Amino acid sequence: MTNRRESRCPGSGSVSLPDGTGTVPLRAEAAELAFGFGDLAVEREGIVGVLGYRDGAMPEHFGELLDVALAEAARRCLPRAGYRLVEAGRAEGRFDALTVGGTVFATQKIVAGALGRAERAAVFACTIGPALEEWAREQMAHDPALGFIADAVGSAVAEALADRLHDRIELEMARRGWRITNRYSPGYCGWSVAEQHALFALLPAEFCGITLGESALMHPVKSVSGIIGVGAAVKHSDYLCDVCTVRDCTYRRYHERRGTNGGGGAHR
Ligand code: SF4
Repeated sequence: MTNRRESRCPGSGSVSLPDGTGTVPLRAEAAELAFGFGDLAVEREGIVGVLGYRDGAMPEHFGELLDVALAEAARRCLPRAGYRLVEAGRAEGRFDALTVGGTVFATQKIVAGALGRAERAAVFACTIGPALEEWAREQMAHDPALGFIADAVGSAVAEALADRLHDRIELEMARRGWRITNRYSPGYCGWSVAEQHALFALLPAEFCGITLGESALMHPVKSVSGIIGVGAAVKHSDYLCDVCTVRDCTYRRYHERRGTNGGGGAHR
């Protein structure tokens, strides 16, 4: 997929390539990348795990409801995803904060440690749109099981979209000779969800059609936002949550049930 919608943000400049062969412009625009539902590779088995069933133990009726919800998702989801590349680094004299696009974020130590050696960050956001969550809410009134399963499908589709966006960012950064980190979102790893407002201030208004409520909740709800560290010296950890000492973590529980690694909105 190569289509891009670009929205202008302030800030520009250029950066040297790591091999010393020249410079490339630092992307000053936030760019939307094109994804269709078929690109997302949503894993049915992962959703079965999130619903609490393993190894074919899901009752047949629930399996049928899951297939109905997946078919509705294919019809109703309108994936939108994009990012903006900005300068980033550890906030001076602090081990618990980062400067991203000129703004200091009190990310706390897990995120600040992971991006401590980043030179840039991809500030990203993605959503599957509001139609599936609205349909799931309607089903709750007369078939709560279907509504509940459709809601779980919406979460899985949003995570799959974030995974594919992560893949694309990795590819685009690799072309410049840079590595990327796991992804991190406000609300996880000790990073306050209130900083979502400052994060979205680095993106054009209503980027990908996402707006924030006062409580920093995204609309549509099935959306993911955050940062990914970029640079020659950063690394991606396949087992971030496995070695993390935070035990009471919603994201960890979600990915344990799904049967995947997780971390700060950081799995993959
Ligand atoms: S378990 Fe994973 S998501 Fe949770 S705080 Fe640790 S690294 Fe972050």
